Amino acid sequence: MSQISHILNEFEDFAKSVYAPEFPVLLHRPVFAGNEKTYLNECIDSNFVSSVGAKVTEFEQKIAAFTGAKYAIATVNGTAALHVALKLAGVGRDDEVISQPLTFIATCNAVSYIGALPVFVDVDQSSLGMSYDAVKTFLYEHAELRNGVAYNKTSGRRLSACVPMHTFGQPCDIVSIVAVCKDYNIPVVEDAAESLGSYINEQHSGTFGLMGILSFNGNKIITTGGGGMIITNDADLAERAKYITTTAKIPHPFEYVHDEVGYNYRLPNLNAALGCAQMEQLDYFIMRKRELALQYESFFSKSKIAFINEPKGCVSNYWLNALQFDSLNQRNEFLQHTNANGVMTRPIWRLMNHLDMFKHCQNDGLPNATWLEERIVNIPSSVPVASTKEKTKNTS
Ligand SMILES: *Cc1c(COP(=O)(O)O)cnc(C)c1O
Repeated sequence: MSQISHILNEFEDFAKSVYAPEFPVLLHRPVFAGNEKTYLNECIDSNFVSSVGAKVTEFEQKIAAFTGAKYAIATVNGTAALHVALKLAGVGRDDEVISQPLTFIATCNAVSYIGALPVFVDVDQSSLGMSYDAVKTFLYEHAELRNGVAYNKTSGRRLSACVPMHTFGQPCDIVSIVAVCKDYNIPVVEDAAESLGSYINEQHSGTFGLMGILSFNGNKIITTGGGGMIITNDADLAERAKYITTTAKIPHPFEYVHDEVGYNYRLPNLNAALGCAQMEQLDYFIMRKRELALQYESFFSKSKIAFINEPKGCVSNYWLNALQFDSLNQRNEFLQHTNANGVMTRPIWRLMNHLDMFKHCQNDGLPNATWLEERIVNIPSSVPVASTKEKTKNTS
């Protein structure tokens, strides 16, 4: 018997009971329990399904109000939002962007679209997000200011942005990271794709840096099918973001005149309609997810498996619940057993610096990320449809 075998069946039964009658139990499926169909029909009935329509503006306003950001600009997906945010932050070809190795590929892809290179600093073991100490040490050892512009002394390249990511919705130490980047005039673009509904000192994630981005992909806490958002408090950046994500067209009653190479990154009205309906349920989704996290925490408290909790002073949306195992063997045993028995679980991403495209990029040794890569697993985290209490009520 291995150290965790006694808990495997019990965990699978627990997950199945939370999600019954859903089987197999998925990692994260969407919930459409509100006005989704009504708003979609409104779009179809009005013919506004595509690049023009009132739902996009409405969705942007809902996101701005929810996050407390002054401006929100909808995009076709989160990767596109990050691509444009980095461009507007001033990232150019052959620049370097400070990034973390433990993230979804989109973060590094967006850097690559510009022709810039990620440099990888380590993450914190507790938050799984970018480590303030690692950023500070990297900048101290490698950065120098030339006429107020940060350069990497080792590579000679400009350090033109830093992109911390709030992993699985757990906020990273963003306040300190923004402060140390400010010392080097490096703008921060927060990859808050996973952290809609997560807060640091009661301020919404994604609103600490120059800009933040969100994703509404099918597996995120709310979904528009596909979609993303840039959030910022800067009026000029917001205006620029809207302009270049909508083909950089000069407003005119009938002429097509574009004065720079823009992008067709706008969110279709249909997708925005879905977003408006999802936003009406977001508070409920977060409440249910936080309830579920408490249940998981209490379940695993009697085992040797650690449940990843929100950092002090932070509120997490618990988008994806995560466990930390003692070893790679334990992790693999858990993954094999649960997936074979209808409970979907997944390991954390392969480190970006292990992928062919980013192998050559500078990194700081990454001891924590390397350690976590072998130990972190995500467990089913969809919004449970009815609470356990409601279920017992229904069956009694
Ligand atoms: C989901 C996600 C994105 C954006 O993904 P899209 O599918 O393009 O919306 C970016 N970064 C992270 C960390 C993500 O999880």
